[in-house]
Amino acid sequence: MKIVSVVGARPQFIKAAAVSRVFLEFSEIDEKVVHTGQHFDAGMSDIFFDELGIPEPAARFDISGGTHGAMTGRMLMAMDELLSEHRPDLVLVYGDTNSTLAGALSAAKMHIPVAHVEAGLRSFNMKMPEEINRILTDNISRYLYCPTDQAVTNLTDERYDNRDCDILLTGDVMLDAMQGFSPLARKPDIDLPSKFALATVHRAENTDEPDRLAQIVSSLNNVQRETLPIVMPLHPRTRNAIASSNLDLEVTIIDPVGYLEMLWLLRSADLVLTDSGGLQKEAYFCGKPCITLRDETEWVELVEAGANFLTGAQGSEISKAAQLALELEFEPNLALFGGGNCAKRIAEHLTRGR
Ligand code: UDP
Repeated sequence: MKIVSVVGARPQFIKAAAVSRVFLEFSEIDEKVVHTGQHFDAGMSDIFFDELGIPEPAARFDISGGTHGAMTGRMLMAMDELLSEHRPDLVLVYGDTNSTLAGALSAAKMHIPVAHVEAGLRSFNMKMPEEINRILTDNISRYLYCPTDQAVTNLTDERYDNRDCDILLTGDVMLDAMQGFSPLARKPDIDLPSKFALATVHRAENTDEPDRLAQIVSSLNNVQRETLPIVMPLHPRTRNAIASSNLDLEVTIIDPVGYLEMLWLLRSADLVLTDSGGLQKEAYFCGKPCITLRDETEWVELVEAGANFLTGAQGSEISKAAQLALELEFEPNLALFGGGNCAKRIAEHLTRGR
């Protein structure tokens, strides 16, 4: 079975690392990885290929920047060409980026079945580019691999059970990644206090709204002053937005780190503050409380479990949650996320289960 897997952004490299290494154990699968170039620099891309053993991409498009439409359009053109040449039996896409949508749309128009890893997630906020990408991708996918029960419920609520597609509860591939790569976790080369919070911010809804970004920066500064020091691997988009708004972020800022260093930071932190989808779950997998700097989350089971405080950008809410979160102790229920066998379930379904 010839599979073309499409990746382009940081979280997709991590997901692909977990899936591709399992695919290698299945002799029926011949996988080619395509890198669209959406994330391209050493810290956001190369390090993941180097450290996580992802197969060298069979093609790189080097498409990044520009408007969402322009980026997606250029990717579509490149995908059309690549798929006409390779004619795979299946195209596999991950998550909710422009690369996901371009890969899925090009394949669907050529009648090549699409498998969507992380299907069925919904924030119910159509202002998010990610929400648009994931809804459209689900609509044109043949195989919908859902990370959670909630994702399956979302699809059945939208009547996907009446369509010509397979919905499968596979569990969450990020748990596979964390379990697989944890033994390699590595301390970053920086001085760290014994107690600290780990923070990341990169969602457009936070970085592209100057008022909201200012609120988040001031909230993080408050937590740093009043509760505990914060270490923040800063996404390039956020760094630029902070600089153009002349904001003064008083936490310890470091460059984005590779996944192995991130795993070490996660394990060592006392608290996570983030707007990242992946990090919310990784915090939970490690038994760390998480403050989510968004107004809604796709990962509602974390909020229901009491491990995730959904605060938005409000300073008072964030300070209050930080105090509460530091008192919290919990055992993660990894079964909620499939226990770490997602990639194997996908490979078995593709080769034997269809
Ligand atoms: N991550 C990383 N280095 C960083 C920041 C994040 O390796 O400096 C990892 C993080 O642990 C998670 C993934 O990148 O596995 C999440 O990516 P991101 O937050 O960019 O996207 P999202 O999950 O929100 O789609």
